[in-house]
Amino acid sequence: MEYKPTSNFLKNIISEDLKSGKVDHVITRFPPEPNGYLHIGHAKSIILNFELADEYKGKTYLRFDDTNPVKEDTEYVESIKEDVLWLGYEWDGLFFASDYFEEMYNRAVLLIKKGKAYVCDSSAEEIRKMRGSLTETGKGSPSRDRTVEENLALFERMRQGEFKDGEKVLRAKIDMASPNINMRDPVIYRIAHATHHNTGDNWCIYPMYDFAHPLEDAIEGITHSICTLEFEDHRPLYDWVIRECETEKVPHQYEFARLNITNTVMSKRMLKQLVDGHFVDGWDDPRMPTISGLRRRGYTAEAIRAFAWEIGVAKADSTVDMKMLEHFIREDLKLKAPRTMAVIKPLKVVITNYSEDQAEMLEAENNPENPDMGTRQVPFSREIYIEQDDFTENPPAKYHRLFPGNEVRLKNAYFIKCNDTVKDEFGNVVELHCTYDPETKSGAGFTGRKVKGTIHWVDALRAIPAEFRLYEALIVDKEAEEGVSFLDHLNPKSLEIVHGFVEPNMKEAKPQDKFQFVRHGYFNVDPIDSIQGKQLVFNRIVSLKNTYELPKR
Ligand code: ATP
Ligand code: MG
Repeated sequence: MEYKPTSNFLKNIISEDLKSGKVDHVITRFPPEPNGYLHIGHAKSIILNFELADEYKGKTYLRFDDTNPVKEDTEYVESIKEDVLWLGYEWDGLFFASDYFEEMYNRAVLLIKKGKAYVCDSSAEEIRKMRGSLTETGKGSPSRDRTVEENLALFERMRQGEFKDGEKVLRAKIDMASPNINMRDPVIYRIAHATHHNTGDNWCIYPMYDFAHPLEDAIEGITHSICTLEFEDHRPLYDWVIRECETEKVPHQYEFARLNITNTVMSKRMLKQLVDGHFVDGWDDPRMPTISGLRRRGYTAEAIRAFAWEIGVAKADSTVDMKMLEHFIREDLKLKAPRTMAVIKPLKVVITNYSEDQAEMLEAENNPENPDMGTRQVPFSREIYIEQDDFTENPPAKYHRLFPGNEVRLKNAYFIKCNDTVKDEFGNVVELHCTYDPETKSGAGFTGRKVKGTIHWVDALRAIPAEFRLYEALIVDKEAEEGVSFLDHLNPKSLEIVHGFVEPNMKEAKPQDKFQFVRHGYFNVDPIDSIQGKQLVFNRIVSLKNTYELPKR
């Protein structure tokens, strides 16, 4: 099913660059900060970077942009590697920005020597104020005119740990009147007395993103550095750092639109809030838009890749409907997933004219849309379970499922007719008494009469108990309001847990096996809570109802 567009603006740029001789090879990188688990927005970036390079027989590196010790952790490093591999990509090099700290320091010293950087004593608040606004030019800091010698000495003392966090920063000396606020003497180094996951306590000064990122790209020889649109205004600074630091290699930055999806949040910071606040059961909760959550929910890498190609690479931000992602997992599983019957909210049915000592095996197709998947045997006997929702005492108009006096087809089995109900002390129907017609066996060519409804069922004696986790959107649709956190928009019904039964041949279902439960949707065997041969837990990936139409092309 993999569809790839033949062109996009980034491919055009690369083709041009190769043709004009601006580059003679292509190297891209995926540069996550290891401060959380990856989400499907990152998947878009991964797919884009790897596939672009692949198209031109180039290379792609995985680089951890680990310049902020306070938020980073090796747990995140490991999960990111796992997710990239699972998506189907192998990096040509694995790097840590923190391995370049010495080199970055030396480049900062070079800037100071050229009179292009200075140590500033102002607080973060003062720096913000002096920076001005879109309508107001900035004011130079009192530290701006320090001599080179003074700056070199102070920067060295910053490195030696003589100052507290926030006491001093190193700033690039560019232009306090620039119309681009990013160019008004941005901070390029700050003090943070914190233990780094990679460099331990070797450093107490850390480079800022805008200084570190271009240098990382230059050191690795990245030719096309692709990032999201919010960095467009930072590009002049990117180019300034490359030029003034006199790097041997000259990378270029290109921006594309970030992926947003309806009814969820797409930022590690917010996802971390959900995890830390126990609103979900961890980063891999199947409701999360993280790659690990989607994987546990039952999404396949193929479906995510197809989705990424369909949304394409744009130059303008937009929000994609969650239904589109769901469309692609249905498409991927349609011919792959075996179809079987599961009753998720059971109601017992006794077939009164089926003898107690009788039982039989009925043949059922594993996937009517894919005959290659063969058939299986499904047991049938006097007691079965059907879905509570497939019976009502007071049928509305056009209700074709079971009600007293009505006849329906049991899928792969016989017609049954409801004659009587058994109720509990509260008046709830807890059991149905039906009769079956042996003439109507499925596949036997019965033409005597027709019924309008077909329902699914499982054999009560042989079915295996299972837990079903039914998911809905994490966030309910609401306009973003000022001052209202996304946490106030959490869907209280995002998870429903029900207990029912599956066909006996599901006994050997393994973690991450995927099935279509007839009429219910696609389900995945939960990799954490399901224990093969002992306890079955299924996550509903998506229901069967497709409400998304692919645009015509
Ligand atoms: P978050 O806010 O979720 O932490 P980020 O952009 O800070 O996202 P990084 O770890 O810095 O996360 O991102 C690594 C790469 O993934 C960057 O190149 C970034 O542009 C890209 N990326 C992040 N979010 C998205 C998204 N929603 N759509 C496309 N690309 C994204
Ligand atoms: Mg970030």
